[in-house]
Amino acid sequence: MIAPQPFKFVCPKCGHTKLVKPKSDVLNPTDFIDICPKCKTKMDKRPLGFLDKLF
Ligand SMILES: [Zn+2]
Repeated sequence: MIAPQPFKFVCPKCGHTKLVKPKSDVLNPTDFIDICPKCKTKMDKRPLGFLDKLF
């Protein structure tokens, strides 16, 4: 079994980011699409970069 990898959503408009850490390998539809709480723009899903893993 492969452990689910954390990822983040990045708003292309205001730069707001949201870190997502899946608790299991069963993903919800909401794990793939998210809306920025600040400007209501559809956020882009991004894998965590090297710097993100340091924190
Ligand atoms: Zn935004």
